[in-house]
Amino acid sequence: METVQNEGVIFPKGEKTSADYFTGTAWLTVLVPKDETGNYTVGNVVFEPGCRNNWHTHPAGQILLVTEGNGWYQERSKTARALKKGDVVVIASAIEHWHGATKDSRFTHIAISNITEKGPVEWLTPVTDEEYDSVH
Ligand code: MN
Repeated sequence: METVQNEGVIFPKGEKTSADYFTGTAWLTVLVPKDETGNYTVGNVVFEPGCRNNWHTHPAGQILLVTEGNGWYQERSKTARALKKGDVVVIASAIEHWHGATKDSRFTHIAISNITEKGPVEWLTPVTDEEYDSVH
């Protein structure tokens, strides 16, 4: 039923994200593109269960606002942080990290990314199954 499928959903799913930067299926809706009023972009990202993005950095940081489901946030060499609806993650500049869903839950967050001349993100290598499994 449509009403069940849409439970908890605030923004449209948008377009599938690039397989170059995600393992599994994720969706992105750009809510606020960068324009002359600010040096940031705001996007809604939906991760299907098991999906995570590659290791990456943000040249000028990022804020995540969790709106649905259960997920993970992990910085390189740190213990992963479990995320749920209502959690806020503040990511400092140039910190290597990844974020994504748990194995059994869809996970949605709003991402506010500051933009410099380097762009909003620098993508690195995929999070391997071994790395992903180790946080569960
Ligand atoms: Mn990030």
